[in-house]
Amino acid sequence: MGRMNVSPMMQQYFDAKAACPDALLLFRMGDFYELFHDDAKAASQLLGLTLTSRDKGENPVPMAGFPYHQLDGYLAKIVSSGLRAAICEQVEDPRQAKGIVKREVTRIVTPGTVTDDALLDPCQSNYLAALVPTGPSDGDTVGLAWVELSTGQFYAAQFAAARLPDELARITPVECLLPDEVTMPPAVFTSMLHTRRPVWAFGERSSRELLAKHFGSHAVEGFGFGEADGPSLRAAGALLEYLTETQKSSLAHIDRLVPYRTGATLEIDEATRRSLEVSRTLRDGRRDGSVLGVLDRTATALGARLLAEWLVNPLTDVVAIDQRLDAVEEFRSGATWCEDVRELLRGVHDLERLLARVTTCRATPRDLGGVVRTLRLLPALKAKLTARRSALLNGLEARLDLCEDLRAKLDKALVDECPLVSNEGGIIQPGYHTELDNLRDLASGGKQWIAQYQTDEAARTGIPSLKVGFNSVFGYFLEVTHTHRDKVPAHYHRKQTVKNAERYITPELKEYEERVLKADEQARGLEQSLFFELRNEVASAARRLRATADVLAHVDVLAGLAQLARERNYCRPKLVEESVLELVGSRHPVLDALRPDGTIVPNDIRADAEHGTMLLITGPNMAGKSTYIRQAALLVLMAQIGSFVPAESATVGIADRIFARVGASDELARGQSTFMVEMIETSRILNTATPRSLVILDEIGRGTSTYDGVSLAWAIVEYLHDQIGCRTLFATHYHELTDLQTTLPRLRNLNVAVREWKDELVFLHKIVEGAADKSYGIHVARLAGVPREVLTRARKILGQLEQDHLDEQGRPKWTKAKPAAGGQMQLTLFGPPEHPVADELAQLDVDQLTPLAALTLMAEWKRRFDRTGNEEASPHPR
Ligand code: ADP
Ligand code: MG
Repeated sequence: MGRMNVSPMMQQYFDAKAACPDALLLFRMGDFYELFHDDAKAASQLLGLTLTSRDKGENPVPMAGFPYHQLDGYLAKIVSSGLRAAICEQVEDPRQAKGIVKREVTRIVTPGTVTDDALLDPCQSNYLAALVPTGPSDGDTVGLAWVELSTGQFYAAQFAAARLPDELARITPVECLLPDEVTMPPAVFTSMLHTRRPVWAFGERSSRELLAKHFGSHAVEGFGFGEADGPSLRAAGALLEYLTETQKSSLAHIDRLVPYRTGATLEIDEATRRSLEVSRTLRDGRRDGSVLGVLDRTATALGARLLAEWLVNPLTDVVAIDQRLDAVEEFRSGATWCEDVRELLRGVHDLERLLARVTTCRATPRDLGGVVRTLRLLPALKAKLTARRSALLNGLEARLDLCEDLRAKLDKALVDECPLVSNEGGIIQPGYHTELDNLRDLASGGKQWIAQYQTDEAARTGIPSLKVGFNSVFGYFLEVTHTHRDKVPAHYHRKQTVKNAERYITPELKEYEERVLKADEQARGLEQSLFFELRNEVASAARRLRATADVLAHVDVLAGLAQLARERNYCRPKLVEESVLELVGSRHPVLDALRPDGTIVPNDIRADAEHGTMLLITGPNMAGKSTYIRQAALLVLMAQIGSFVPAESATVGIADRIFARVGASDELARGQSTFMVEMIETSRILNTATPRSLVILDEIGRGTSTYDGVSLAWAIVEYLHDQIGCRTLFATHYHELTDLQTTLPRLRNLNVAVREWKDELVFLHKIVEGAADKSYGIHVARLAGVPREVLTRARKILGQLEQDHLDEQGRPKWTKAKPAAGGQMQLTLFGPPEHPVADELAQLDVDQLTPLAALTLMAEWKRRFDRTGNEEASPHPR
């Protein structure tokens, strides 16, 4: 675009824009933020702003804007659309500016760097991540670091690239930094903004240096990082560099980098998390209606975020889980005490986010008010936590730092209801600071004099209605209604005429006015600097306060879980190392919470060596299969975070991984998945499940043709049974699979009870032993009044079809042959050994065969093989 005659201000705009080309530039002009050119066009669409133009005429510049006080609202829209905004402020007072006002980009706001309360969900962490792939020479490791700027939590980890989708799904960052020129599979980044950063920002040496500069030399080693942690630190360094660039303010609240080591937690991959609706619902991605939504009885935002964190990082250590359960149980058994604690917690403010604002000098007086109000609750809370049976509660109580000194100081300093801004006074209590008290006396003395002056002047002039007033243009004045105009003394100086009155000033009034205003102004200035002092003091106690916030969060989560257990009548699960599962009278936690009481049918779920580790659940649609198998996974998950579970009793063998897969057609309805995805996910299970895992498969194989689907499902079940032997719940409407019970010793058939009532089928949602009724469909047809002839014929066909898939011994033809005596597996490539082709094959002298003869022979075999008719024939017409 031609920029021949740009005004100095537009030049300023272009300079600012050049420094952050990929952000919407919000350019402060007086009381407005303005956007120009493409930004203006984008903003008019995104924010619904009216597009106008500047410099109308030869070179009109598209422009859109909004009043400065609406910034928060518009930032929220920009950021939640996954875009960035650069805020360019006037950095000098326009009245003092010589020529054009100086402007600077003071902050770049991106989804991952927002800290304003108005833009954040209090119950959800808002992570910014940085990712550095290392390539095959380093074993395809990736370094990942993530930070929650509003609380200062900062983590780094490295792991095999293949784990990346799961780790990202666990952390769910809203924005991710990537080195320029790195290409990543798009599937990895779905709902987050990716921000390209120069490659140098990810350099190992520069990162280590930057981290040492921020945390102090050797601090990083102190956090537990070593020589081999290059990828982690490179990602962490790039993050820190980005924050420095975008925030342009202190990052002091980020005071440690925590190494995140995988392995100590129950692994749940991305697809499982999604299909179990752990933190979000499948349908509309909301927290309400997810497992998290149901479990959350926390009283504070601190607790809500910690619970979310627990739920994506369940434990695998029985001792650690039992510690949590002990604490929950103690809260559970002391209802009044638990409620007292929760009542105290309800008064707790979001200490983590308050602290972050304090250390970055963004905290308002009201924020400090929140800190002190929280501190005031601590002694009572500590008293409630002393001398408890639970080791975890004892530990938390011991770690709860009351910060008495700080509280005493803030208590003395701050008024009860602190204002939102620091430069208009009304922050500091009387008696805290002598000079402030004096200034206030002076100001109020002046005000008293002025009040007295009004009385005196009214008497002296004989004007009873004479009044002293104040306005911001010319200060204090005397007001006399027109009725008494004649009585006004000569030394009154007329200043203004209003509707019914005249306004005057006098030299004495002006003298006192000056005293009052000066004292007021000085008092306000002093209050502000006292406030800054207090804020710094809070900042220097950040580490202690952070520890306290952590204790509060833990207590809140534990008490919340107890509250839930009481409300919903949960039981304490017994955690064991063996790979077993025994849930008696269990309910699906979400149904249990959302459906009216008494409408949920409790079910038993048993998977162990005695009852079989593999449960195959058949039954008609809408019977409750999916609910049943998810319930198993969710109760294990809940038990491993230390929660009670919706059951009468529960024994849960620690799972190292939980896998849940939903067949493509079930998910297709939601436009989510394809058969390919289903198979990719299934192959990951088959490749990574261990004997300690729990696998939930729902209608796997349904996304393709029936033959295909049954065959795959069949083979998958066999593989899981024979090769892995993990606890598996498989829900299917493929009735054929129930035959597997004849060959797989650890497989057990279950089905859902159905009752015929009048002319209807009633789903009892009760899971019972045995395979589902094969002719269920025909059954329904009968109820629906389909003519008897059709039913009879259908039964006959069904019988024929069933016959066809059984061999001479009445075993399904698809089953692998049982091991022959002596334990040797028989090859069944061509079916039974007496097959004529097998005979010929046995007699063949391969050494004597030319390649052409071999080919001819094979073609001949194939022809005969197809004709003898069997299940290997292609279903497709040729
Ligand atoms: P399927 O997978 O067999 O088609 P679903 O598990 O999707 O069936 O359940 C079908 C319906 O039955 C759902 O609306 C569910 O809420 C309800 N349902 C399932 N199990 C129960 C239960 N145990 N008690 C009450 N309602 C249930
Ligand atoms: Mg289902």
